Amino acid sequence: MSVIGVDVGGTKIAAGRLTRGMIVAGPVVIPTPAGGPAIIEAIAGLVADLSAGSPDGIRGLGVGLPATIDAVTGRVVHSVHTGMDDFDAAARLVERVGMPVFLDNDANLAALAEHRLGAGRGHDHVVMLTLGTGIGGGVIIEGRVFRGGRGHGAELGHISVDGNGPPCQGGCPGRGCIEALCSGSALTRAFCAFADANRASALGRLHQSGMLDSESGLALAQEGDADARAVLATAGEWLGVAVASLANTFDPDVILIGGGVSAAGELLLGPARTVYHARALPPTRRAPLLVAGLGPDAGMVGAALMAREGVGA
Ligand SMILES: [Zn+2]
Repeated sequence: MSVIGVDVGGTKIAAGRLTRGMIVAGPVVIPTPAGGPAIIEAIAGLVADLSAGSPDGIRGLGVGLPATIDAVTGRVVHSVHTGMDDFDAAARLVERVGMPVFLDNDANLAALAEHRLGAGRGHDHVVMLTLGTGIGGGVIIEGRVFRGGRGHGAELGHISVDGNGPPCQGGCPGRGCIEALCSGSALTRAFCAFADANRASALGRLHQSGMLDSESGLALAQEGDADARAVLATAGEWLGVAVASLANTFDPDVILIGGGVSAAGELLLGPARTVYHARALPPTRRAPLLVAGLGPDAGMVGAALMAREGVGA
């Protein structure tokens, strides 16, 4: 019994066929085309390719999107990184692929995958933040994904830790959200600001060569550059303020950090943990703060698990 999981990101789409929670085909990765209809066609092509080699047919399709999705209607309400706005993604996919389709926010699915198979396994209460271009959030309560009233809940990237802080991005009217302070794009801005003010530093030289972004800055930090490490530590401290509030709110068993920025590891999580432990209420600072376990496959695996559980298999 196989299902297909698809993780749609702002730049690439990853798809795989899973049997009993194991990836048996894929991940196949293609660039994300522009606009909702083109993305639907791309997903349909991936489903056709992955179905072709399946001996026992495909029972369902799960799709994760970087989007706010109406859980009642299956419509994408808003998605900055894919250009989908008020788009009937679920109905179009059902029509196109002819099998049950399940749609959810990508960070919810990453949290689901980590809970079932990754670093959250064995815990009933899991909070997860995915640090990429933006910041996604997923919350598992009593073993189930928390989605709020219409499916728009757990947008943990838009927790504000500085009410007068920098404006947020991607249509969020907030200020000082952790997405504005600790995401990949926020790190790029912070590295570049330091580089502009310190042109003789390694970050400054990298910036002048036009090569400075969150990934190259992170690589410099991992090589031991003190300035790059300081920028990461500041972002980590803001993250820690949010983690303390999340611990106080949910009393989770574990708090996981995933997404591309989590490659920073302890350079980010160390300062975050120090602030978290200093600021959370004593009874709630029990949850370990860890890097997630499934890496870049988490969203795709979570999408497949949602489909498997959705068809009752
Ligand atoms: Zn925000």
